[in-house]
Amino acid sequence: MIGMKSGEMTNTQNTTSILGVRVDHIDRDAALNRIMEFIGSRNGRGARKIFFTNVHSIHLARRDEVLKSGINNADLVLPDGSGLKMAGKILAKMEFANLNGTDFTPVVLGLAQQNGWTVYLYGGEREIVAVCHRNLLQQYPRLRIVGSRKGYTQMSEQQDILDDINEKKPDILLVALGSPRQELWISRHAPDLNAGICLAVGGLFDFIAGKHSRAPQWMRSVGIEWLYRFFQDPKGKADRVFVEIPAFAVVLATRWLFSRRKDHRQ
Ligand code: UDP
Repeated sequence: MIGMKSGEMTNTQNTTSILGVRVDHIDRDAALNRIMEFIGSRNGRGARKIFFTNVHSIHLARRDEVLKSGINNADLVLPDGSGLKMAGKILAKMEFANLNGTDFTPVVLGLAQQNGWTVYLYGGEREIVAVCHRNLLQQYPRLRIVGSRKGYTQMSEQQDILDDINEKKPDILLVALGSPRQELWISRHAPDLNAGICLAVGGLFDFIAGKHSRAPQWMRSVGIEWLYRFFQDPKGKADRVFVEIPAFAVVLATRWLFSRRKDHRQ
């Protein structure tokens, strides 16, 4: 599939909802096909919006209608993480792929290098985005990075960032502002952006720049990378571990028990 040219793909996307928040039932190759279609069919302003739904974004979206509507109206919403996998089985009787942004985006960047697509980096601390830019060029020497901007900005700097993106017209805009900032920013600005796709990539630049390391493979394969990330940033991630994950687990367990009782009665 990786060698295919834009425009050769069909839409095999299947959308579902987990606690009111959209997730697409799609595998990695089909998601890459959609991205090729989006970039192949871009036409002036109006970037396609691509988000990753995980336990954290569901938690936030259930409390924020604007965020929920932004996610639900995106062009592609990929399932991210082991919590979503479990939720898919229990709530939607579906087997979701784990297409987390940290593993998925590098594959997109490999395709970008191969197809000559241009990339713009927006988000993270000033030094982090600079190191990320440098490291990406080491990893993908022919990647066409046409611009980068740090993510901690004043309101007064926003127009300048939007103008710069529109001048560079990237095929891929990576937005790394964390949730919910990045989803809200993309939902608000994508219609006016001259870009192919906007991808909400969270802490990706921190990983690429080496500020944070990925969890060992065994932790990733048993679905507990979130625990490793908690130990890297206990203050920043405490709510996710002690509030969001337990609350999500309670909702899943309750729904599972109800569905079992219903099955027994039938
Ligand atoms: N960030 C930013 N501007 C802000 C707040 C955060 O650019 O105003 C960046 C931050 O430096 C980090 C990323 O957004 O690189 C958030 O990473 P995190 O792992 O917290 O993402 P999440 O898991 O929330 O998607």
